Amino acid sequence: MSNTPPDPLPGIGQIVQQYGLRAVKKLGQHFLFDLNLTHKMVQLSGIQSTDLVFEIGPGPGGLTRPLLAIAARVCVIETDPQFLKHLAELGPYFDTQLDIHIGDALRFDLDDLSQQQPYHVVANLPYNVGTALLVKWLTAKNPKWQSLTLMFQLEVAERITAKAGERPYGRLSILTAAMARAQIIMRVPASAFTPPPKVTSAVVHLTPLPPSNQYPDLEGLAHITGLAFGQRRKMLRASLKPLAAGLSMPVSDWLHQNNIAPTARPETLTPQQFMQLATSISTTGPRPPRRGPAFSSKTP
Ligand code: SAM
Repeated sequence: MSNTPPDPLPGIGQIVQQYGLRAVKKLGQHFLFDLNLTHKMVQLSGIQSTDLVFEIGPGPGGLTRPLLAIAARVCVIETDPQFLKHLAELGPYFDTQLDIHIGDALRFDLDDLSQQQPYHVVANLPYNVGTALLVKWLTAKNPKWQSLTLMFQLEVAERITAKAGERPYGRLSILTAAMARAQIIMRVPASAFTPPPKVTSAVVHLTPLPPSNQYPDLEGLAHITGLAFGQRRKMLRASLKPLAAGLSMPVSDWLHQNNIAPTARPETLTPQQFMQLATSISTTGPRPPRRGPAFSSKTP
């Protein structure tokens, strides 16, 4: 391949036509053709000219282009090889180094790929693996990511950023709050995508809490929130009953001891209160077998 790019770089819609690219539904393929929109997303991500950035699912490259225009190095991971040829041809248009990996992003360890250098992630995530990827990054040991700027369906974005008492508040909000600060920075209508999905999307920007403020026992937190939100309408004294085996007192007394009303429902407890409960149970005895569901796009 020549290092001199042909001029000018065609629009994304043209690229899709020229390369005969097809949106595969089961891979969550909804493409962004509007480069103004993707430029805005990259601007809001705060990426600087010295940064290493990972993009998951570059597809036809609508988000990859503004990343290449700004960052020092862009590393993309795409599961669908139909995009490989065009992505490889994008490189010579930019001074930025572009590394392309083909495979399932869930199987890649970004800390290893970055060789333990700090990095950022910017992605228009496929809906089917978006939550699993976020949980993987949140629960990584001493992660090297400095920010995550991720497009989700709006409903998931609201679950990630919800505060206690808000309707979408649940396990994902609590796990996120234990590790990071998160806010919705942009809403994107379905009409911005080709083909359009059924729902509105939103971009969430996450930055990690200082290491000393990150909650260390995420497995314990996942367990207790799994029990509590698995039976969201029940009072905590009932939904947390399975914990009794690991306690030296009735569940109601243990909740009282932690200044929590046994009749409270899970959505009224702050993330800090759940962390306090998880810490308290981990110091009082062995944990009964894990009952809470694993995190998925349907996680309450
Ligand atoms: N970034 C492009 C854009 O904004 O137009 C495409 C975004 S599209 C919502 C999601 C992309 O993720 C698709 O290119 C799809 O092939 C890719 N993808 C789906 N599952 C993946 C996985 N497990 N690992 C890596 N990429 C994946």
